[in-house]
Amino acid sequence: AKRVYLFNEGSKDDRDLLGGKGANLCEMTTLGLPVPFGFIITTPTCREFFEAGNKLPPLLEQEYRVALDLVEKKMGARFGDPENPLLFSVRSGAPVSMPGMMDTILNLGLNDDIAEGLAKKTDNPRFAYDCYRRFIQMFANVVLEADGEQFEHEIERYKEQHNKPLDTDMTAEDWQAVIATFKTLVNFPEDPFVQLKMAVEAVFLSWHTPRAYVYREMNNISETLGTAVNVQAMVYGNFGDTSGSGVAFTRNPSTGEHEFFGEFLFNAAGEDVVAGTRTPLPLESLRERLPEVYDELYRTQALLEKHYRDMQDLEFTVQEGRFYMLQTRSGKRTGRASVKIAVDMVNEGMISESEALMRVSPEHVEAFLHPMVDQAAKTDIVATGLPASPGGATGKVVFSADEAVQVAAGGDKVVLVRRETTPEDIHGMKVAEGILTELGGMTSHAAVVARGMGVCAITGCGSLKINYAEGTATTSGGVVIKRGDVITLDGTAGDVMLGDIPKTEASSSDDFQTLLSWADKHRRLKVRANAETPEDAAKARELGAEGIGLCRTEHMFFEAERIDLMRAMILSESKDERQGYLDQLLNFQRDDMLELFKVMDGLPVTVRLLDPPLHEFLPHDEAEIEALAKRIGKSAEKIRDIVKDLAEVNPMLGFRGCRLSVVYPEITEMQVKAIISAAVAAIEAGHKPLPEIMIPLVVNVREIRLVSAIIDRGIRAVLAEKKISVPYKIGTMMETPRATLGADRLAGEVEFMSFGTNDLTQMTYGFSRDDAGKFIPQYLEKKLIEADPFVSLDQRAVGRLMEMAVSESRARKPGIKYGICGEHGGDPRSIQFCHDLGLDYVSCSPFRVPVARIAAAQAKV
Ligand code: ADP
Ligand code: MG
Ligand code: MG
Repeated sequence: AKRVYLFNEGSKDDRDLLGGKGANLCEMTTLGLPVPFGFIITTPTCREFFEAGNKLPPLLEQEYRVALDLVEKKMGARFGDPENPLLFSVRSGAPVSMPGMMDTILNLGLNDDIAEGLAKKTDNPRFAYDCYRRFIQMFANVVLEADGEQFEHEIERYKEQHNKPLDTDMTAEDWQAVIATFKTLVNFPEDPFVQLKMAVEAVFLSWHTPRAYVYREMNNISETLGTAVNVQAMVYGNFGDTSGSGVAFTRNPSTGEHEFFGEFLFNAAGEDVVAGTRTPLPLESLRERLPEVYDELYRTQALLEKHYRDMQDLEFTVQEGRFYMLQTRSGKRTGRASVKIAVDMVNEGMISESEALMRVSPEHVEAFLHPMVDQAAKTDIVATGLPASPGGATGKVVFSADEAVQVAAGGDKVVLVRRETTPEDIHGMKVAEGILTELGGMTSHAAVVARGMGVCAITGCGSLKINYAEGTATTSGGVVIKRGDVITLDGTAGDVMLGDIPKTEASSSDDFQTLLSWADKHRRLKVRANAETPEDAAKARELGAEGIGLCRTEHMFFEAERIDLMRAMILSESKDERQGYLDQLLNFQRDDMLELFKVMDGLPVTVRLLDPPLHEFLPHDEAEIEALAKRIGKSAEKIRDIVKDLAEVNPMLGFRGCRLSVVYPEITEMQVKAIISAAVAAIEAGHKPLPEIMIPLVVNVREIRLVSAIIDRGIRAVLAEKKISVPYKIGTMMETPRATLGADRLAGEVEFMSFGTNDLTQMTYGFSRDDAGKFIPQYLEKKLIEADPFVSLDQRAVGRLMEMAVSESRARKPGIKYGICGEHGGDPRSIQFCHDLGLDYVSCSPFRVPVARIAAAQAKV
């Protein structure tokens, strides 16, 4: 198969083959935009390379030399020719965008002769030798894997010795002298074709660098994709004062505002802008100094956005007043921006509602749920930088990624403070509440990565001087922030404050509500919430929950005043004694349920009967046992005995769920009476309660019959006194493998079924939910599992049990209502699966409800 494509031989639809960057370079070339010409080596070639034990296919070089000839013709210069040299950039580009993850080599094709030729031809020796030394540094770093520090040291040493503090003080001769020393440090290949071949190999190999690996893992990108190699004629932003490099977004990536936005550095090459080593200027300065270039840039961005029908992120270079496009891609954006842009584009007639829904990642929705620094509570601002990623964050200051991980592991929140960040810092950025950098613009690594992660960040905070050695950051006002100090970042405004500043709840927006309303229109799955307290229930309802899918009644008994009653009930030595306590507990439970029914007026509330083992309610340490003994008038001795009696070797598989109902039917009866009398009271108060009583941890149909009989008894007892009809349902949880395997028989006895996928996963894998944290990281690292099955539903086995259960239940009882109420109910990928399975609803924590609404719509689109 063809392994090499010229820029005029592909299109944006060839991402898999040519990588995202290459496909878009082709598309722009075809659109007639000024893209320096070049060719692309395909991603399948990368896989061939790995399969052959990191060897290039034998005929590859021959093939790309043919393409190279054509590039030379088009550019009117020749690779390796000192008279008229053509230089290349060698750029990686995977099918999925991985910003800053793979290494780019610029100015490839230089050696002593060719550098001299370039100097002559351009009549700009300083430029030529600056290019040359940059190339050697990059080549040494990326291809020869030399230690980059030694080059920087060498430059510093030279500058000091010759009293030339600034880069601009360096003449061509100075760079030549530095280059001579560089060459003693590494074994640098002089032959341009050898350089090219080595660079191609290095790009392929860079797929396996640790930082690329971390990024792929964070973003669920497949390890097997591989990268393409883009070989492109160089243009020079470092040629002089009418040259430079920039990046731009067709809309504001932080707010989504429809305004052209970007940054530019004059007389700067390559990655100077994104690296954040110099703080760039706004595009306005380009408009002032090079208005024609600005106009062309402006026209180009408008054209590209219209063409791609999405917000674009552009990289461009200007050489001697001429404009060149080097990259376009769909721009990363904050959650707020993604929603605003999606809704605006529908209103502008650019995309459809369902396209808009697909444009918003479920994670982005959370941006509307992030805390924000309370503007009224703001104290003195000690430093201000660029508002790189919105939200508010408070934490202890750390100065390195490793430190961030350490301190965070100790349970403290951290703010990572760096001069700039690089992909090497990702592990620290992952655990940080907020990120603060001294250098870098809105498009620096720190800014882009933080926005992607939804983490608050401030960049380009130049008034802050960081001293790593001392562990301090000093503001221009003289305030010294030390390692471990608590600071607050307002990423929306770019402000840094000392101490913990109050934050307000995240606020919604009209655009967000519009998008959610589209989601509701397009989805089939209903979304409920897991909630016990009236506050949580109210929040869930506000966020769009269509009912409660799981009310864990035991949580109600952990409350301060009730726990003693609960304990006394468990410790009772006679039925009568127990009944006495149950009667008191009933009052509490009824009042709680009444509140819940009021909040959820007109919506179903699924109440799960008591689930955890009883010993979970009892105190285990001596002091607490003594104290409890006094409070409930029982001997500590007795309590100790009962605690010991109830202790289980394997509580998760022990005396819990409906097994409790079997042994202590009176507890179940109390709960049912509480639920139904609360419903009666709610009806009497003019509300519409819809209780659904759910039996946990069932393994067979006889359990359901037995517990249903207890439930009926409780209901009859309440309704015998009140002549009111209460619309209730009885259902079962599906959380043991045995239940799923006998689902048709269970279905015959109930009106609804709900997967408890936490337990179902635990029992299917035999992985203890409470202990799996010890080995799951290793399982992930060693690729024994793709994802943590407690986070993302295991579709192969657990999913198969679910599939069987649903189809067999519905064969027996067509249309029986099915839901899911495990953690997976809020996980977008799992929601897709539940949709495909034909479940009626998912139930998740209140704050996940909007995410689930969007994910459910995406599942349908
Ligand atoms: P990344 O994927 O990390 O953005 P790129 O391949 O886009 O890496 O390269 C980084 C930078 O190098 C670009 O933004 C651009 O400034 C510079 N660059 C790449 N190719 C060329 C080229 N042909 N001429 C001039 N500069 C280039
Ligand atoms: Mg780029
Ligand atoms: Mg369970």
